[in-house]
Amino acid sequence: MENLKATLLKHNLTLKKAFGQNFLTDLSLLDQIVEKAEVGENDVVLEIGCGAGALTKSLSKKVKKVVGYEIDTRLKPVLKDVLEQNKNVEIVFNDIMKVSVQEVEKKLGDEYVLVANLPYYITTPIIMRFLENAKNLKRMVIMVQEEVAYRLASKHSCADYGAITVGINLKGSAEVVLKVGREKFTPPPNVDSAVVRIDIEKDKFVGVDYDNVRQVVKCAFSNRRKMLVNNLMNVYKLSRADAENILISANLPLTIRGENLTAQDYVNLADIIYKKDTND
Ligand code: SAM
Repeated sequence: MENLKATLLKHNLTLKKAFGQNFLTDLSLLDQIVEKAEVGENDVVLEIGCGAGALTKSLSKKVKKVVGYEIDTRLKPVLKDVLEQNKNVEIVFNDIMKVSVQEVEKKLGDEYVLVANLPYYITTPIIMRFLENAKNLKRMVIMVQEEVAYRLASKHSCADYGAITVGINLKGSAEVVLKVGREKFTPPPNVDSAVVRIDIEKDKFVGVDYDNVRQVVKCAFSNRRKMLVNNLMNVYKLSRADAENILISANLPLTIRGENLTAQDYVNLADIIYKKDTND
């Protein structure tokens, strides 16, 4: 912590809340995150939001290469200082949301692990972009707000289960691997955090049209409190009989809600809805 404060002072920097700048300083915590990422000397790592480079440095000691993205160009001299000895690190000063995943993957050049203490204001968009577009991603090990962590790792029929949980289960699986109290950050945020590990299973569903499945997921959670049959009627402009027939074909109870369906159920449902569509 003293080091970080001294570094910020030296470079006359104040941290920006708008960029989600809550930095980690606890070395043993940084090592625990790296350990949970299970990365080794052959791994390429993508880090999003390098901040003052503490996690970047811990990662670089363990892996073959780290490519980091950082939006805040004021951190250039800090990262240059902190990472002077770490020759396997390349920092790109850009907004990760403005670079295509394809472009990021070109820079990484190999299969990779995403490790990050994510800026909280864009946690979900970052996760969804990589889930939907990444070709070479092996897993994500990401620090997020504790409440979000439990949503990401939730199981169907649990209160935290939502559209993003289904999004993860379509591509792999998630588990909460570490809880991190707010006092571990500088400055401390208003909430506690947790590290989530999302493993990607390349061929979890084969031959699936993910755009169609996502539309069905969006429909099912469009009104969380309503039964799926009602959401299907509203979103797809179906009669009750047609909506019920879809559920019957998918072997689902007529009273089911979006939060009760597994990723496999959504795949089946999309198959039925969109086949029906092309037959109409
Ligand atoms: N990795 C550092 C650590 O653990 O101490 C910093 C983590 S801090 C929670 C999030 C970092 O993401 C900040 O440095 C912030 O400037 C950066 N950031 C915010 N929005 C970003 C974006 N759109 N693209 C890239 N970096 C971003």
